[in-house]
Amino acid sequence: MQEVLCGECGKVINSRDDLCTFLSMNGIQALCSDCYMRNQKTIRGVRTPINSQSTVLVMIAAIVACLLLFVWHPSWIWVVVAAIAPFIRSLSWLLFERKLKA
Ligand SMILES: [Zn+2]
Repeated sequence: MQEVLCGECGKVINSRDDLCTFLSMNGIQALCSDCYMRNQKTIRGVRTPINSQSTVLVMIAAIVACLLLFVWHPSWIWVVVAAIAPFIRSLSWLLFERKLKA
């Protein structure tokens, strides 16, 4: 099993509970929960982790909204918009969460 290291303190992250992934300028980054909490107080840390329950809810809401918009104004742009969040979520899973046990 590969190791997932915290992008800030370099600590080995052992469980998904301790992992917070978020979108940054450099792509998807992984932080341990301690560093994530510390970063919450700074401007660059005001983000919801990708691997949180609320992100899944936002993702479902976005897909439903895009589905409705697609029905009212058929355009492929809604399909693309609806696919962004699940794409980022699965990328986070592929890069980090897959390597950790639940
Ligand atoms: Zn850390």
